[in-house]
Amino acid sequence: MTTPLEILNRTFGYPAFRGRQREIIDHTMAGGHSLVLMPTGGGKSLCYQIPAILRPGTGMVVSPLIALMQDQVAALRQLGVRAAFLNSSLPPREAARIEHQLLTGELDLLYIAPERLLQERTLELLDRAELAMLAIDEAHCISRWGHDFRPEYLQLDILRERYPSVPLLACTATADERTRQEIISKLAIAPEFIFAAGFDRPNIRYEVNAKENERQQLLAFIRERHDGDAGIVYCLSRKRTEQIATFLSQQGLTALPYHAGLPRDQRQHNQERFLRDDGVIIVATIAFGMGIDKPDVRFVAHLDLPKSIEAYYQETGRAGRDGLAASAWMVYGLQDVIMLRKLAENSDAGEMHRRLENQKLDAMLGYCEVTACRRQVLLDYFDENLPEPCGNCDTCLKPVETFDATIAAQKALSCVARTGQRFGAAYIIEVLRGSQNERILRFGHDQLPTWGVGAEFDAWQWRSILRQLTARGFLTVDPEGYGGLQLTAKAKPVLKGIEELHLRQETLSKPAARRRAAAKKVTAATASLGDDTAEQALFETLRELRRRLAAEQELPPYVIFHDKTLAAMAVHKPTTPEQFLSLSGVGEAKLERYGEAFMSAIRQEGTGSMEMDLQE
Ligand code: ADP
Ligand code: ZN
Repeated sequence: MTTPLEILNRTFGYPAFRGRQREIIDHTMAGGHSLVLMPTGGGKSLCYQIPAILRPGTGMVVSPLIALMQDQVAALRQLGVRAAFLNSSLPPREAARIEHQLLTGELDLLYIAPERLLQERTLELLDRAELAMLAIDEAHCISRWGHDFRPEYLQLDILRERYPSVPLLACTATADERTRQEIISKLAIAPEFIFAAGFDRPNIRYEVNAKENERQQLLAFIRERHDGDAGIVYCLSRKRTEQIATFLSQQGLTALPYHAGLPRDQRQHNQERFLRDDGVIIVATIAFGMGIDKPDVRFVAHLDLPKSIEAYYQETGRAGRDGLAASAWMVYGLQDVIMLRKLAENSDAGEMHRRLENQKLDAMLGYCEVTACRRQVLLDYFDENLPEPCGNCDTCLKPVETFDATIAAQKALSCVARTGQRFGAAYIIEVLRGSQNERILRFGHDQLPTWGVGAEFDAWQWRSILRQLTARGFLTVDPEGYGGLQLTAKAKPVLKGIEELHLRQETLSKPAARRRAAAKKVTAATASLGDDTAEQALFETLRELRRRLAAEQELPPYVIFHDKTLAAMAVHKPTTPEQFLSLSGVGEAKLERYGEAFMSAIRQEGTGSMEMDLQE
């Protein structure tokens, strides 16, 4: 009998299981149910794909995004796995053929959208089929508390009732404690079968900067660190995605917008280009990304603040699924804090929900303003302990200096109080800096004791102080939504001088100086190639070959080989089938399909450089 390890080696081309994969697969093989929590790129799919291949019958995979099933299925077929999908995009004849294959046991895996699965007709079909297992991808969609609730997911519990003896595996990359509890209770999974792998994504470098000129900051980040890389830029509004995409295009980058308001064709076209071409930047609302498993997204940039750490972690988690270096980069400013606070305050949901939203926002803001390791904050949010600072986030790489801001905070808070808690940040700053503009004179605020007490900081520095005070909950925004800053109960001890306050030093340095201090380029795909130019050239040749083979079959390039595998080829230069097969990411089907093409490219390049040597 074939073992899971043999399938891993021969079909997927990987030498060993990772983390808890082995345990999870054994549990499923033995008929057990489970909830699998692993970060994006952690290797969840193998946990259900291997049992689906090995157990008699077909494994059913419920997945919310039909657009992407196609690529997942294409990737499996490249590996020689008998996979198909059923969704509304299929012509009826094709669907009928797949249903027939399901009934005659000709499929290892069948991907299906939840709404399709829940149709009585489909369930009756499943009744007649032999089911190897059931997998529910993006299982957090089941939770009303989660950030991506989908009503149709709630009904998936009928799977457990209808097929009690078929092993079920629910998986997700994002679920806080409450969401986990909801998933297991809904799907009747025993708590001891939550398999939580570490949530850490060590290859992602986290970085948050104060927003100054977001466009220039974004452009500099891409040019200096991710030139030619594929990436996602998230914005809150549809209009902004289009503006930013236009701006980046004008700067000579390949950038496309994506949001739910675009015509369907254009949306699909842009998504396809992102998946299939090298180095495309997509500028999107959060409508983009779920289920995107493009492994070589090198950066995720946020121009607006996400509403919660879960959302942030999931969005940034789309970078670097292939395990190579990637960036999660964000700029944020006072305006973002004010806007999200307003949204949370004015949300229509009930009191409890509103409080929850505010808590989530607080956690997010705490992350932005933290002066210690960012990864520790993120992992701590998911109840995971990282004992040492990570060494791969901005605060680790360039420790944040803080300064005693007690006096500055007292001035700012007192100015807010004395002007009547009705004015926005810009006005408060003008009063602090002693402006004599018309409004200030009209209100007589030039007579206040706090007028002109803040000349030691410029307007930019005061904005940063006010932002930090708001983010840390000393100030809030008036619930009417005019953007007036107000004191909270937390402000009192600071005003009275009982509490000392330390804020980020960034407030003391000029923006331009900090911009210069930007980090160097993140080493990406070709890092393992080192400085060897011959290897780099070979890598490019192999990449071009991959692009051609992919285009011929209308597939995304990574479905053929990942960058990581190409880099290994460039380093090890395999020229025999045995050598080729020993590369990570090469299984039997890939050897047979592509081995010769890649090995002959390697041989040619080899002789090419030898000739050059002789000529010299
Ligand atoms: P997830 O679904 O958790 O986001 P995937 O299942 O897509 O992650 O896996 C991420 C990447 O890691 C894929 O390219 C996959 O082929 C690879 N991978 C998974 N398991 C292993 C393993 N045991 N060894 C090497 N690579 C693996
Ligand atoms: Zn760190």
